Amino acid sequence: MADELLGKTLGGYEIQRLLGQGGMAKVYLARQQSMNRQVALKVLPRQYLNDDTYLQRFEREVRIVSQLEHRHIVPVYDYGEYEGLPYIVMRYMPAGSVDDLLRGGALPPERLLHILAQVAPALDYAHSREVLHRDLKPSNVLMDDDGGAFITDFGIARLTDGQGANITTQGVVGTPSYMSPEQAQGRPLDGRSDLYSLGVMLFEMATGRRPFENDTPYSIAVMQVTTPPPSPRVYNPRVSLPLEQVILKALRKQPAERYQSAGDLLDALKQAIERPLSQDTEPNIKKPSPPMIVQAQPVIIQAAPAQPVQPLQSAVQPAPVRAPQVYQTSAQRMTPLPSVALPSYGLRSRIRQKRQSSPLFALLLGGTLGCGLLVILGILVLVGLSAAGLLNPITATATVRETTVSSRLVTFTPPPGEIVLATPRPDQSTAPVNLTAEALRGTLAARATSPAQVSPTPAPVNEATGLAGAAPVLGSGLAEVRGTLLFAGMRQSDSGTSFEIVRLDLATWQETRLTQHPADDSYPLASPDGQWIAFQSERDGDFEIFIMDVTGGRVTQVTDNNYVDRLPAWSPDGEWLIFSSDVREDGNFDLYRVQRDGRNYQPVYSSASRKSHPRYSPDGRYVVFTDGAANDSATWEIMLLETQTGAVRALTDNNRRDASPLFSPDGRSILYITQVNSSNAIAVMNIDGTEARILYNSSGSDWAASYSPDGRFIAFSSNLTGADQLYLMTAAGTDAQQITSTRGGYPSWLPGQ
Ligand code: ADP
Ligand code: MG
Repeated sequence: MADELLGKTLGGYEIQRLLGQGGMAKVYLARQQSMNRQVALKVLPRQYLNDDTYLQRFEREVRIVSQLEHRHIVPVYDYGEYEGLPYIVMRYMPAGSVDDLLRGGALPPERLLHILAQVAPALDYAHSREVLHRDLKPSNVLMDDDGGAFITDFGIARLTDGQGANITTQGVVGTPSYMSPEQAQGRPLDGRSDLYSLGVMLFEMATGRRPFENDTPYSIAVMQVTTPPPSPRVYNPRVSLPLEQVILKALRKQPAERYQSAGDLLDALKQAIERPLSQDTEPNIKKPSPPMIVQAQPVIIQAAPAQPVQPLQSAVQPAPVRAPQVYQTSAQRMTPLPSVALPSYGLRSRIRQKRQSSPLFALLLGGTLGCGLLVILGILVLVGLSAAGLLNPITATATVRETTVSSRLVTFTPPPGEIVLATPRPDQSTAPVNLTAEALRGTLAARATSPAQVSPTPAPVNEATGLAGAAPVLGSGLAEVRGTLLFAGMRQSDSGTSFEIVRLDLATWQETRLTQHPADDSYPLASPDGQWIAFQSERDGDFEIFIMDVTGGRVTQVTDNNYVDRLPAWSPDGEWLIFSSDVREDGNFDLYRVQRDGRNYQPVYSSASRKSHPRYSPDGRYVVFTDGAANDSATWEIMLLETQTGAVRALTDNNRRDASPLFSPDGRSILYITQVNSSNAIAVMNIDGTEARILYNSSGSDWAASYSPDGRFIAFSSNLTGADQLYLMTAAGTDAQQITSTRGGYPSWLPGQ
């Protein structure tokens, strides 16, 4: 077809050469004889002339663009028809499209910002004129020689009804890789749908690839609806934390959670790029193992060779440690415990998703989100839906320029209603089921009624100490224990029992209850200055991070979203909280951080697996955390992230569940929980993973170990006597002694005492 027009003159335009071919039209470089200037001429090829859809799109583009007058929208000069072929005459953009630019890979942040600063106002302008673009993508942003960026191709744009109301479409038109979830579902659209597409563009500009790639347009459209976007930093380690944050917000599945205008997005982007506040102190993440798009494969982490890690300056002389026990490397795979200490965090969110999913959705997620999807859909159409006459065949446009299937402009009709593409969001309207607490209680109850484990002491409980009878008399090995413990204690609440944050003075055995809420509060950890306590709470239905002062006052919710944030720990300067977050809502927790006042919610480390329990080293050089597959609570490993370089290495590599790591106060060793004969035990190792040894292993489950500020003692939880109670022992693992009798977990020490 190109040849037919080359060299010809139509309507005063000399066709010089083909510039490109898009979803429906060919674009030529031409010379406008009257003005003696170069223009771009977009012509609808002859084979589409009989197709009303294409003709209409062509006419619509002329109609819509002629109403838009903006310095960053490619202007249309003229339109006409040549021997029955309709054409549009536009300003010629000599420097290609952003898509061309991206062939060279990711763009530097300044370049990205420069493009956005031009495109964003143009998009807001179009929206203010009731025009939705609906096909925003890199190939539709063209450039001139001065780096100017211009939106073009309003071929499938739609006008809203003038009242600002949404538009509904018959079927779905657009480019799946850039389509918003609502567009992919054929739902009513507003400007925020274009903003999502802009977010996809941002992702691609920042990383060089699109967030969702798959082998059919339809499966990509499904991913837009159902799959949380991967972390941009997984694909480009140079993406800063703030920039990633902006991109992920733009890609929220729910329009209400995105930026509400292109201007807002631009503001956030400027902030993130011009003031990337923390790049020096935060990890520059190296590209980890395979990206986590659809089916999370369990990741096998190779143990890094044990390279010596630079020992840190010792502030405190480490306590003498008894001769290390030999660490048994058991090859057998342990069966998962009915865990009290370490519930499978991923489970809850996956169950939640399942609860709200239709059987069909479950089927789709059940492993066929790839190329089999169309087939499944086809079968379902045959089985049930076509009888009702509800489905039209899925049709893709015949002509495609790009080699990547995912960037084609396609038209298809989504299945009716919500059947297939229901977004898996937690249902806020129903009372949340606290699976973790339920499991915890269930386990506690089961243990309490087990005849072998019934506590033999029915003595009255001392209210102050929580202990039966009197305050505990500590053995001689613990005689010098000082300080104050924080822990989660099972306490009476408005609606029965729940876990509350409790403070226990070890000198007076005075106990102070700091929270009182029907929902569970747990995992308290004091700030380095000892003034604040971070904890996790289920007050809003899922886990969020809270802080309060050490008297239990000034309770502040630091994170607030629809997914699980848990296990907060402080940065050494007390400015940040690092925690694990199920942002992707698939049980593959990522490490995030947030400032104590709730600002700058940012990813720290993302990978295909489930990461949890991050703790900074005292000097901030490292973060140690737990890593494992979301669907495997039997085999977890301890990982070390170097904050300067982003390098991550495995410190353990075995078939056990190693978890809950934290640094000793002198930064020389890592205390963690491992397993002996399927039961939790307390272990310690050097920070390069060498000399791992068991410190303490009772016949119960020992967990949540935490050093005293001077490093001489360890507090922990154990269910040795039936229910979980707090214990103390020396840092060498000797003289272990129970100190509560009313159930407690997650002990930690107030610093500086
Ligand atoms: P698509 O967006 O599907 O690629 P288009 O019909 O918008 O299809 O354009 C096809 C290609 O032609 C573009 O990718 C671009 O390279 C080129 N093109 C379109 N308009 C212009 C223009 N005004 N100036 C220069 N090149 C253009
Ligand atoms: Mg285009």
